[in-house]
Amino acid sequence: MEAVVRQMKIIPLSEGAFTIDKTKKFIPFNKDKDDLQQRAFGSLLVEVQPFCIITKKDVILIDTGLGFGNTEGHLQIHQNLLDNGVNPFDVTKVLLSHLHKDHSGAISIEDKVLHQKFLSFPSATYYVNKDEMAFGLDKNNASYQQEDFELLSTADKVVFIEGNGVIDDYIRYEVTGAHSPFHQVFWIAEDGKKVFFGGDVAPQLQQMKRRFIAKYDFDGKKCMELRQQWGQIGQQQKWTFLFYHDIKTPVVEF
Ligand SMILES: [Zn+2]
Repeated sequence: MEAVVRQMKIIPLSEGAFTIDKTKKFIPFNKDKDDLQQRAFGSLLVEVQPFCIITKKDVILIDTGLGFGNTEGHLQIHQNLLDNGVNPFDVTKVLLSHLHKDHSGAISIEDKVLHQKFLSFPSATYYVNKDEMAFGLDKNNASYQQEDFELLSTADKVVFIEGNGVIDDYIRYEVTGAHSPFHQVFWIAEDGKKVFFGGDVAPQLQQMKRRFIAKYDFDGKKCMELRQQWGQIGQQQKWTFLFYHDIKTPVVEF
């Protein structure tokens, strides 16, 4: 009998397309009906798309999306996981690239009856950069929504990571800064496959192909240089790239 080889499984959890302008509000955009020209000048069109990665050992969630509810009042990311056959209770690790509201929205959920907040993935260990957490709590600007993530400071199953390192021998993290001051990226390696999540330093495939400096980055030049490096190394080492804000191509084998 042949042994069953279970390959790492990648599930993009699209929350849809949105436009975002200077106000940093995410406004839903229906690709069939809406017209980008009608949106505020300078609006960017982005997908918002956390990823679930099922490995031999873990059910990993990378970033948590906007935290919007669906029409039945369920957290959209919970519904999206269920629709893909994953019970949110089974998520074992939540990896957070940074705490901007489109990446941290569903970290916690408020129970409307008990008036209390709980972590949305109760069985999971959350991994967040310690300095990003401090920065996000301190920084009162439109990109950080403290009520989404402040519970991490007092919750049990949170690991505040510092600098670069490895989790459980197969998940590597590296602080890049560049997009936000303490933004971090992840590599997940199993059975010769290497999956790379560049967060908002490398949010879309097209950004890997042309050199440009984005105004919304903390250090746009560093972002551009990192993208170029990753593009080259990723091609040599055949990484699988995950693009959080890409409308058409969430998962790309380089
Ligand atoms: Zn983002």
